[in-house]
Amino acid sequence: MSQTEGVYGYSAVLMGSPILLKLFEHNQTLASQVFRLIKQYEDLLTVNRAESQVMSINHAAGKHPVTVSRPVFELIKCAKAASQFPDSIFNLAIGPLVKRWKIGFKGDSVPPEQDIAALLPRTQPHQVVLDEAEGSVYLAHAGMEIDLGAIAKGYIADRVRDFLRRQGVEQGLINLGGNVQTLGSPEGGWSIGLKKPFSEPDEMLGVIEVANKSVVTSGVYERYFELDGKRYHHIIDPRTGYPLDNDLESVTIVSTDSLDGDIWTTLIYGMGVEKGCAVLANRPDIEAIFVTRQREIILSSASQFRFTLLDDGYQLIT
Ligand code: ADP
Ligand code: MG
Ligand code: MG
Repeated sequence: MSQTEGVYGYSAVLMGSPILLKLFEHNQTLASQVFRLIKQYEDLLTVNRAESQVMSINHAAGKHPVTVSRPVFELIKCAKAASQFPDSIFNLAIGPLVKRWKIGFKGDSVPPEQDIAALLPRTQPHQVVLDEAEGSVYLAHAGMEIDLGAIAKGYIADRVRDFLRRQGVEQGLINLGGNVQTLGSPEGGWSIGLKKPFSEPDEMLGVIEVANKSVVTSGVYERYFELDGKRYHHIIDPRTGYPLDNDLESVTIVSTDSLDGDIWTTLIYGMGVEKGCAVLANRPDIEAIFVTRQREIILSSASQFRFTLLDDGYQLIT
């Protein structure tokens, strides 16, 4: 536990990242409950271990449907829907390509073209077959794999918020590493740093102030490898099978639910600034902050947060 200015911080390492919980009163029991809750959801959703409900679905690919718990079913249903939005690069069936590239893990390398071509047909969202009545998920072809890596943290951040709210907590913050979810509005808002791409973790481009909102950042600097001067990062374009290549270094989404933040960071990352802003013009509940290679910070709109620029090497465009 740490304490600064009446805020109590609790930390743990879960889901492969440092997790931080902030509360306005000292409550170790509550903090332990939160960390246990996160661990329980991780155990259901992970694909980075031999066993989980999602792994059971993957092991049964091409063989039989697997009945899963309701939250897992609902999350997969939501992920399938997001995979089928117009122009979506979000793809819940991207697993075989993620496993092949191993980006950010030991042994990452550029796969031979024929390997990618062979895996692409195994990544089709419509072949994730859902049975509402049974609560089951069936992957219609052998070799298919669901990967919820892009949305698990958002989903879990929302469950933590709901849990804290049920416990009567009025002000709190959970940071799952890339996903921040907040309750309440201490002194006008929570301040969340916008990271400077490819810099030290504590170097900030600016500060985002929110109340009762989620702030999710997906950055190409988080997990990548370089080969012959080219950078390969961890969001795979399901149309090509290769890491997405554009001018964006990070996309941040401010929204009520962190699950929406996770889905939209990926969607918007695939659309780029112009198309992304056009699409978000119809979604006042979802707002984006783009950071480009050209050192611009572009806000799609800013009705749910306040942004303060800290780095004069960057230009703020609103
Ligand atoms: P982080 O792990 O840094 O929070 P993201 O939230 O952006 O990063 O999610 C990246 C993860 O999402 C990848 O590690 C992979 O598991 C998964 N993924 C990669 N490409 C896609 C895609 N096109 N659609 C859905 N999930 C993806
Ligand atoms: Mg994430
Ligand atoms: Mg994400």
